[in-house]
Amino acid sequence: MSDVRVRFAPSPTGELHIGGARTALFNWLYAQKTGGKFILRIDDTDRERSSPDHLEAIYRALTWLGLDWDEGPDQPASYGPYVQSERLSIYTEAAQKLLQEGKAYYCFCSVEELAEQKKIVRESGQAPRYRGTCRNLPPAQQEEKKLTCQGHVIRLLTPEEGETVVEDVIRGWVTFDNANLDDLILIRSDGLPTYNFASVVDDSLMKITHVIRAEEHLSNTPRQQFIARQLGFRLPVYAHVPMILAPDHSKLSKRHGATSVQEYKEMGIVPSALLNYLALLGWSPGEDREILPLEEIVQLFSLERITKNPAIYDQQKLTWMNGHYLRTMELEELLQEALPFFQAAGVISANPTEEERLYLQAVLRIMRDRIKVLGEAVEATDYFFREDYAFDPEGVKKQFQQNKETGKILTRVSRVLQGLEAFEETAVHDALAGVAVELEVSQGKVNVPLRLALTGRTRGPELLDILLVLGKDRSVARIEKTLERFDLG
Ligand code: GLU
Repeated sequence: MSDVRVRFAPSPTGELHIGGARTALFNWLYAQKTGGKFILRIDDTDRERSSPDHLEAIYRALTWLGLDWDEGPDQPASYGPYVQSERLSIYTEAAQKLLQEGKAYYCFCSVEELAEQKKIVRESGQAPRYRGTCRNLPPAQQEEKKLTCQGHVIRLLTPEEGETVVEDVIRGWVTFDNANLDDLILIRSDGLPTYNFASVVDDSLMKITHVIRAEEHLSNTPRQQFIARQLGFRLPVYAHVPMILAPDHSKLSKRHGATSVQEYKEMGIVPSALLNYLALLGWSPGEDREILPLEEIVQLFSLERITKNPAIYDQQKLTWMNGHYLRTMELEELLQEALPFFQAAGVISANPTEEERLYLQAVLRIMRDRIKVLGEAVEATDYFFREDYAFDPEGVKKQFQQNKETGKILTRVSRVLQGLEAFEETAVHDALAGVAVELEVSQGKVNVPLRLALTGRTRGPELLDILLVLGKDRSVARIEKTLERFDLG
């Protein structure tokens, strides 16, 4: 059993987006690869922006992706609770320890005073920072201010000189100037901890060995390292994964395509494809392969192969990859994935009969090559599920109105198909070939109008496949109805 423990620590302030899902995946992969534990921790100390609905959305998205966690709010183990708002006494205790050891202090500066101080510092040409007004208040004055001031925060006494070096598996040694670190707030005036403080306390108490997270947190790391050292904690290994940017290298946003896991789900991206795609956003297997099933990614995964450069999001590649997974997954799995789309469109009932399931499965089998995302599936296959399917006007003009022989050909096809005892591949194929020979026309002259009659379209899957899926009765009825409707008989 490995002692690796990694965590994904989302803030429930919105849907799970592509960046968060990728961070969760990399943590999950590392735990899988090393036989370690994957922990889900909820960073909900931003009480205003956190909500139970967002938390539910995060659970739903992770569960849909199959990124199951070993410990978390609903999987309690010895290191809980796993929700930060339930751990407030733990942070207070840690802050008290720092206060007692003279490593932290109460600060009574009001919001207005702080703004004024920042302004003065900025005007003197320095980066805005806290000036340390309350650093050395004598104990008696502290007690007095506690009674008279509106509120107070607890700040960490932080060195103003020297450098802090962060060692990151992906980025190597990164040096930060302590002058920029500020005496950061540990506990706010409302008693809630700040992100940096709570994160360090939890990472340590939850025995996290590797902190794998978004690059945007690299600049927080020197602060977190300092907090950890002051608390006497061991440092975890850090791995800051690169940003995900839009193709034009701008910040990724909705206009570049879907970005939340829920939106991908609604588009009809399947989890296996999304996981494969996400894994390659900033990680490389070391060989030029794109299609990698999850088991293989687990085998090949290493933190060292995560790239430093930003990953570029490419929705076309994602949908291409999804198309691949739709084409190659087990039919039963495809059916499960596709069913909700057909149910939502009212094409298949909420509790489908065995017959409905088999019919949809047969349709998917012959149509899956033509679908990239399941959201397209209902529209692409609609003529299999309704008798009032629309006819392509160009096709009608060319095949039915301008071609005088069509009526005769389709009438003959209908008769011949009706006469078939076994409506199976060879028999149907031979029957259609027989009509072409008998009427002395090319096979195309039979097949093209027949396809149009059966589907309303001039293109689609193999004609023979369409006939076999529709079956004899429905095929013949459609041909008869077309003859009548377009007055071809
Ligand atoms: N709650 C933080 C976030 O969602 C976690 C950052 C971290 O992993 O330390 O960005």
